[in-house]
Amino acid sequence: ISDPYFSGTISNTNGNRLQRPRVGLRRGIPSLHSKKEATRSEERARSEGEGESEVDERLKNIDPRMIEMIENEILAPGQTVTWDDIAGLGTAKRAVHLAVIYPLLRPELFQGIRAPPKGLLLFGPPGTGKTLIARCIASQAGATFFNISASSLTSKWIGEGEKMVRALFAVARVRQPTVIFIDEIDSLLTQRTDGEQEATRRIKTEFLVQLDGCGTSTEDRIILLGATNRPQELDEAARRRFPKRLYVPLPDRSGRHAIVSNLLRRLAHALDDQQFETICDRTQGFSGADMDTLCREAAFGPIRAISDIRSANVEDVRPICFADFEYALTQVRPSVSPKDLEIHIEFNKLYGMAA
Ligand code: ADP
Repeated sequence: ISDPYFSGTISNTNGNRLQRPRVGLRRGIPSLHSKKEATRSEERARSEGEGESEVDERLKNIDPRMIEMIENEILAPGQTVTWDDIAGLGTAKRAVHLAVIYPLLRPELFQGIRAPPKGLLLFGPPGTGKTLIARCIASQAGATFFNISASSLTSKWIGEGEKMVRALFAVARVRQPTVIFIDEIDSLLTQRTDGEQEATRRIKTEFLVQLDGCGTSTEDRIILLGATNRPQELDEAARRRFPKRLYVPLPDRSGRHAIVSNLLRRLAHALDDQQFETICDRTQGFSGADMDTLCREAAFGPIRAISDIRSANVEDVRPICFADFEYALTQVRPSVSPKDLEIHIEFNKLYGMAA
């Protein structure tokens, strides 16, 4: 991988990690770690060779139904996401490289007190690229990517959330290197509230047990990325569990410019530089997701202008023009309020990591 944040060449030790067989949770699967980096139990499994039908020791006490669910619903497809797909956020990208990417790729350089914490908290308003960053980390580090929202643990798997958490971490261990992305992590870390159900309380407890277990194991290559739009709800104990907290802010002017250019790249448009600048001026306070919505709305302009869509030819579609953006700007408003933004800026000042 050629890497702007690294002066050498990074060899991804897991090269074809993402083409790994779908299940692969059985003993004897071809491990993609180098021998030296493999965990002891993987080593053992391999030296015994064979055993496609034998379940990995670490999954012995896990309900196979849970494993199946994790594979179908939480294990995200290994799409390639590059740092160029993420507009702007230069500071955050640099911090992520030092905190996560390099330690995953070059563990031998990050030993002892250089060993990074296993968890990284991404905070910032919704739609600013936290999920995108997590997917990119997994993709670039050749890691398996687990994507789960905390609320789905308490709602979707009613009564089974606790088992699910245990199974999730067990599967993550077998599949390592692994990136576990937990959206809305604040709801799992905040202290219990009065009306909270017993099941929810147990999920939280199990999650903390697993989280702390992850943090103490030096062998496992599991990175936990927690995302939150409500960092102010994290208490001191929660913050201690995520000593590195990275602010993912709204895109600045050049970030917005990059998002618009990227999205318009494959479509005919008639915008000149000045009009691009005007769009950037008029979208101050827009999140990345808002910019995406705006561009999609504008891109619809030429289609709306066609009188008979059924019989129109592709070449009849006129290029997207500035008027389409002017119209889109009347339809799409920024989704993040200045008040919410202030909360993130304050939290960053107090608890955010230095870039
Ligand atoms: P979050 O996890 O912070 O709520 P996401 O990462 O899910 O936000 O972003 C939602 C969508 O907004 C993305 O799929 C992408 O289309 C767009 N987006 C947000 N931030 C960026 C960015 N920095 N660069 C490119 N696209 C972005």
